[in-house]
Amino acid sequence: MRYISTRGTAPALGFADTLLAGLASDGGLYLPETYPDLPPLESLRGRSYSEVATEVMWPFVEGDLSREDFTQIVEESYAVFDLPEVCPVVDLGHLKVLELFHGPTLAFKDVALQLVGRLFEHVLSERDGRVTILGATSGDTGSAAMEAFRGLPRASCVILFPDGRVSDVQRRQMTTISEANCHAVALEGTFDDCQDLVKAAFADEAFRNEVHLSAVNSINWGRVMAQIVYYVWSHLQVSPDGSPVSFCVPTGNFGNILAGWVAKKMGLPVDRLIVATNRNDILTRFFATGTMEIREVVPTTSPSMDIQISSNLERLLFEVMGRDGAAVATLLDQFRSDGTVSIPADTLELLKAEFGADRLDDAGVCEVIQSVHEEHDILLDPHTAVGVGVARRIGSPSSPLVCLSTAHPAKFPDAVFSSTGVRPPLPPHLSDLLERPERFDHCSDDLAEVEKFVRRVFAADVSGE
Ligand SMILES: *Cc1c(COP(=O)(O)O)cnc(C)c1O
Repeated sequence: MRYISTRGTAPALGFADTLLAGLASDGGLYLPETYPDLPPLESLRGRSYSEVATEVMWPFVEGDLSREDFTQIVEESYAVFDLPEVCPVVDLGHLKVLELFHGPTLAFKDVALQLVGRLFEHVLSERDGRVTILGATSGDTGSAAMEAFRGLPRASCVILFPDGRVSDVQRRQMTTISEANCHAVALEGTFDDCQDLVKAAFADEAFRNEVHLSAVNSINWGRVMAQIVYYVWSHLQVSPDGSPVSFCVPTGNFGNILAGWVAKKMGLPVDRLIVATNRNDILTRFFATGTMEIREVVPTTSPSMDIQISSNLERLLFEVMGRDGAAVATLLDQFRSDGTVSIPADTLELLKAEFGADRLDDAGVCEVIQSVHEEHDILLDPHTAVGVGVARRIGSPSSPLVCLSTAHPAKFPDAVFSSTGVRPPLPPHLSDLLERPERFDHCSDDLAEVEKFVRRVFAADVSGE
């Protein structure tokens, strides 16, 4: 399998190079040259999550990994989840909820990152290479990346978080990791400052090469690939005859729902894909009007979706624009310079045929958490509640409707408590999180200082100190 860039000029790469590169050299995002067909659904029924995952993802990695190695890596990745079914489906009456939060950090990002970390290690050991993963986090990505890379001998992992602006649970999930190759850095600044520093570090080519910088944010193809699996997996559970299923996905970056669209391209019978946003609704407005327009980010109770630039939308635009990389580059350059851009009416119609979209504000989230608790005795986290609220409103009369649940309620206890009066406990493996010793560094909002820190980490990890 070869991968091509959405901006049309970077060279096509195989799977391993695509994984390590993250972003393409022309600023685009990688997509497979062709979409392979899924194996017949009948052949997947009754098999374990890891078996389904291996079958679904194999064509994407074939040629770069042996079947034996890949099977083992997938099994190890999903053995760390709390439940043997890895991503269980629970009933809320007509709605089904796909729980993606049974991994080590209690958010759906573990499903992809547990695999991505192990794939990095495998590829690097075959090449005798090493990387420094550098990322910025507003909460969930940082801990999921550190959990995925902890203790790996060929990777160092440095995560910048805005000092005092992540929750206690989120900070402690990063700062209590004891492995020496993982470094949480409290930055004097906002999340945007963290992200700008990461971008500036990647743009410093000499530095990037010196410490072998790499990224595992949601634009990395490896993450999209791993997310395809649970669309297939939940389809097998809710549609025993293989008839179409609709999915509702709480999203900000368009990363999760894009994987559902790829599953459909691979032949999964999908009816509607519903985009659910909070008040930061650039995606909802885009699917209604065809105009993408940046506004101020407003803080909500679902902070992991407080985003105004949906990077993964670029992959869908590339597809609906007939894979014209030059046209995508022009469109996104205009968006970057003007803060707004529109797609032609016929392109919008193509999107509307497949996608629905709506938003839910914090008051709506609170009502959903409360009513689901009363009616079903189930606690939803605020991100999942955005999805369930939108799914209830839009509905899906002709097909089963699966809502993706992206976080454990204990990860956002305050919103759950204020809606229900119940404080969800952390699961056993994290029950002593608030007593564990913390370890983290501080940095000012300064590129030279961040680079100096990363160099020191790199030198220490290389020499095994
Ligand atoms: C990251 C995250 C999301 C949004 O994921 P996208 O990549 O934007 O689709 C939603 N919910 C939770 C809990 C998250 O951590």
